[in-house]
Amino acid sequence: MCSDVLSRLWPVLATVVISVSLSVPVLGDEPTAFSGDRAMALLEHQCDLGPRLPGSPGHAALQDFVEAFADSLGLSFTRLCFDQAMPGDAGVLTLCNLVITCGTGDGQALWLGAHYDTRPKCDLDPDPVKAAQPLPGANDGASGVAVLLHLAEIFAAEPPGRPVVLIFFDGEDSGVSGDLSSWCLGSSRMAARWDDFGSPLAGSRPEGLIVVDMVGERGLDLPYEMMSLQTSGGWLEALYTRAAEMELRAFRPEPGRFVYDDHAPFIEQGIRAVDLIDMDFPEWHTAGDVPAVCDPASLEEVGRLLADVAYRPLD
Ligand SMILES: [Zn+2]
Repeated sequence: MCSDVLSRLWPVLATVVISVSLSVPVLGDEPTAFSGDRAMALLEHQCDLGPRLPGSPGHAALQDFVEAFADSLGLSFTRLCFDQAMPGDAGVLTLCNLVITCGTGDGQALWLGAHYDTRPKCDLDPDPVKAAQPLPGANDGASGVAVLLHLAEIFAAEPPGRPVVLIFFDGEDSGVSGDLSSWCLGSSRMAARWDDFGSPLAGSRPEGLIVVDMVGERGLDLPYEMMSLQTSGGWLEALYTRAAEMELRAFRPEPGRFVYDDHAPFIEQGIRAVDLIDMDFPEWHTAGDVPAVCDPASLEEVGRLLADVAYRPLD
C-alpha cells in the first residue's frame, strides 16, 4: 500500500489500534503488566505508515498518530518543531520532537526517550537497489516508539506518583558516517534547551533519561552501552540490578559497545542518561529491518523494566 493511501486511512487505523488498548491484560503482581503483543501491534502499525524519514508522508502521519494517541488517553501532548539544515544535500526540513507527559505530583521526573524518525536510505544493504530505498525501520525506530506508546497507555490507566515524560525524538538517523554532529539532531536541540521557559522538560533536574533504541530484535541482547557506563554508571548498574531481580534475561551486565545516540546530548548538558540498545543487529540499516525480525518477547522485557522503574525509582 502506498503512503498516500495510508495517510488517508490513518484515522481509521488509529481508531482500531486505540480500541485495542481496552484489552491490555493485567498479569502477575507487577503494578500494571506490559504486553509484548500490544507493543508489537504498535510497532507494526508504524511500519504500515511507510518509511518515517523526515519530510515524508509516513513521518507526518506518525506525528499525527502520536498526538491522537495521547489525546485519546487524556495525556498532555506537546509538539516542539524547528527548522534544521539536514546532512548531505537534503536541504532544510522542519523537525519536531514530540512529548507526552504522564504521572502525578511534583516529585523527581523520569524521562524516557526513543527516536521516531527512520533512516532515509538502507545504506548498509548489499543490494544496491535496496540500498537506495528508505529504511522500513521496524527495529531501528518503531521498536522504541512502540514501547513508549504502550507505556503511555499503562501510565494513563495507573498514573505513576511522579512525572514521567515520554520523549519521541526526531532526526536521530539521518546522519553521515564520520560526522557525529549529523546524528541525533532532535535530541541535540532539545538537550541544549531542556530548561527553557515553556519546555515540557523544564523544572527540577530529573532522575535521568533512559533511551531505548533497537530493542525489538529477536533474541535481544543488551550489554552495557559504554558511554552510559562511563558517565552514568551507578544508575545504569542499578537499572541492570532491577532487571536481574525481575529475571529479564536480555539485560547482560557486561561491557558492550560505545554508541553515540540520543542520550549523548543530554549527558553533554550534565543530565544523567543511559541508552538501552542492541547494536548486534544483522539487519541494521538494511531493507531487512522489518517486523518479521522483531519479537514481542523482546519488547516486553524492556517495557516491563521501564514500567517498574517509573513506579519504583532506582535511587
Ligand atoms: Zn539507525
